[in-house]
Amino acid sequence: MTQIIDGKIISKQIKDELKQTVDKLKTENKEITLAVIQVGNDPASSVYVNNKKKACAYIGINSLSYELEEKVKETELLELIYDLNDNPIVNGILVQLPLPSHINEDKIINAITPMKDVDGFHPQNVGAMCIGGQGFVSCTPAGVIQLLKRSQIEIAGKECVVVGRSNIVGKPMSLLLLKENGTVTIAHSKTKDLKEVTKRADILVVAVGKPKFITNEYVKEGAVVIDVGIHRDDNNKLCGDVDYEAVYNKVSAITPVPGGVGPMTIAMLMNNCVVSALNF
Ligand code: NDP
Repeated sequence: MTQIIDGKIISKQIKDELKQTVDKLKTENKEITLAVIQVGNDPASSVYVNNKKKACAYIGINSLSYELEEKVKETELLELIYDLNDNPIVNGILVQLPLPSHINEDKIINAITPMKDVDGFHPQNVGAMCIGGQGFVSCTPAGVIQLLKRSQIEIAGKECVVVGRSNIVGKPMSLLLLKENGTVTIAHSKTKDLKEVTKRADILVVAVGKPKFITNEYVKEGAVVIDVGIHRDDNNKLCGDVDYEAVYNKVSAITPVPGGVGPMTIAMLMNNCVVSALNF
């Protein structure tokens, strides 16, 4: 029987655990605050931002909302970040990406103090993750590790293949699997014979950004498949980077889309806010 790894249930468990911690902090008069900055009003970004605010409300984290015009100057955005960096009530700063093309994303990420970088994108936090130091870990890959651990799926000693090497998913994902003692291979668009590589995987994490790209012939019998992708198919239905129906009977466990990795990203963002309040 194929195990369906349910991100809705697991993310709810994590949020409930965090809520308990936040309630306890409140009895000590400690509040947690996340500043959320959105530039422009891209509908997809608005959905993500609203979901993050809803999660904050559920857990008891205060959210401060900054909605900036699409044509806001880079310097103005930087000024706001510097103010929030210095504001002692703010524990986390989140700038919803992507940003309009006239704003340099790297410059914005680098401007957030690493101690409030709850997205885990600042080079200092990425570096800390590489060498096993303390810092914030990027939310989607951290969520995948929680999905595996809380589903009692052993990572140590397993052949792990990550398809995709982006800074926000593929690269940090591979480092986290390595930290858990997986034997990790990273595949990308220049990989020769991708099927041969993915078929070696006991744990296959797919972050390729192409709808239903991974089909039956890419997976080994009994593999665990984690699908990070999120798309709308021709019928406007949500789907992932994996052809779920095609691989379902071949694998031992799989994440659905929606309801797999997606809800975990927000849960781990909330976790990072709580960690920030506890540690800094
Ligand atoms: P990117 O587009 O930044 O990266 C895609 C990666 O896939 C690249 O490294 C690219 O290789 C690789 N790739 C592309 N084509 C192929 C191919 N034919 N064979 C092998 N590798 C290939 O995407 P992201 O990492 O940002 O996101 C991946 C997916 O995850 C998207 O669907 C995105 O929407 C989703 N996502 C979901 C989140 C969630 O919370 N559920 C959060 C973040 C992303 P190369 O480097 O060589 O170009």
